[in-house]
Amino acid sequence: MKQISTGRKRYTDPGGTNSRDCHEGGVLLSSSSPSLAELALHLVWPVRCPLCGRAASVACPACLDALTGEALSLCIDCRGPYPCGFHEGPPLLAGAFHRGRARDLLLALKYGNGRPLGTRIGFALARVHLPPEADFIIPLPLHRGSTRSYNQALLIACGLSRTWRLPVVDGLSWAMQWPAQAGRQARERLSLPEKAFSWTGPSLRGKRAIIVDDVCTTGTTLDRAAAAVRREGAVPAAFVVWTVTERMGKTKAP
Ligand SMILES: [Zn+2]
Ligand SMILES: [Zn+2]
Repeated sequence: MKQISTGRKRYTDPGGTNSRDCHEGGVLLSSSSPSLAELALHLVWPVRCPLCGRAASVACPACLDALTGEALSLCIDCRGPYPCGFHEGPPLLAGAFHRGRARDLLLALKYGNGRPLGTRIGFALARVHLPPEADFIIPLPLHRGSTRSYNQALLIACGLSRTWRLPVVDGLSWAMQWPAQAGRQARERLSLPEKAFSWTGPSLRGKRAIIVDDVCTTGTTLDRAAAAVRREGAVPAAFVVWTVTERMGKTKAP
């Protein structure tokens, strides 16, 4: 597979499987569970499904599918069904609402050893949603100076990429510095500037992009990422997240 390097960013051709972050400790896991790779991994590093406790499973597809249930295709502005009669823009495709076990799984992804889990969540999202018509999958980046060892949005993007056969283009960067302790909600309570993100990847002109994050709360971060993609001459085709907060009937945050 062709791989392009531009500075610290990596780009991969369809499938996206050349990215180091699309592998898990050097083991490329399959979308079925448990794979031989997982069983081998379990011998040296025991893992259990965080949802049912099953040994040698990073997260069972059946457990994830039970959480996703019906495909959530929503309006990002009012969280009503997509298409929305009041708001325009691409659909927000989610795995589940941000509560209960879906929320717990997101916390495990972010604060546990979530590297293998992220790809699994991507597989689960790709099982429940048909691939939007698009050319690229673009993950939200970690904030500048982050000490996190992996980008959970990129891992989810890798899972989507392998099933939907679309390349991951990891070209978005925060254009601003956040204090290390500032979490997502702290950032979004502040008014994110229109140019919160810059683009450091290859040309997107005339392309359609799927923008991926782990969770959508106010929608502001995804909105600013979409603005960066539009400035590059591309069209956001869809947003994809694992969980989404319910916000029916409220106006969009700045
Ligand atoms: Zn399970
Ligand atoms: Zn709406």
